[in-house]
Amino acid sequence: MSARHTERPAMSSETELTRRIDAIKAQIAKLGELRPGTLSQQYNTCGTPNCRCKADPPQRHGPRYQLSYTRHRRGHTESVRPEHLDDVRTQLATYRRLQALIDEWVDASIALDRLRRAGAPAATS
Ligand SMILES: [Zn+2]
Repeated sequence: MSARHTERPAMSSETELTRRIDAIKAQIAKLGELRPGTLSQQYNTCGTPNCRCKADPPQRHGPRYQLSYTRHRRGHTESVRPEHLDDVRTQLATYRRLQALIDEWVDASIALDRLRRAGAPAATS
């Protein structure tokens, strides 16, 4: 008895999904400054003779902070001053949050669309 029962979507699921989407939109609207990228640290040697960066063991200069990102299929690298690190880190985190929210939004939208299309046959109601 493997009667394939078609699942009728419960009204609450549609309502739930709609609510979730509204909540996601509200969260996106509240996001602050953002930007894509990843931060990395660099330790370098310089051109000064007898500098500590050439000692044994070497004490390299740094860290210098670099921000790398790809935008419109082009890679970019920028240096970030220490006093801007906190801001940039916040912007990067906000960007990741936006990506996560967009993913949730899209997933919920697909689920909602499926529910609606699989739902009640075009009844004359
Ligand atoms: Zn040096």
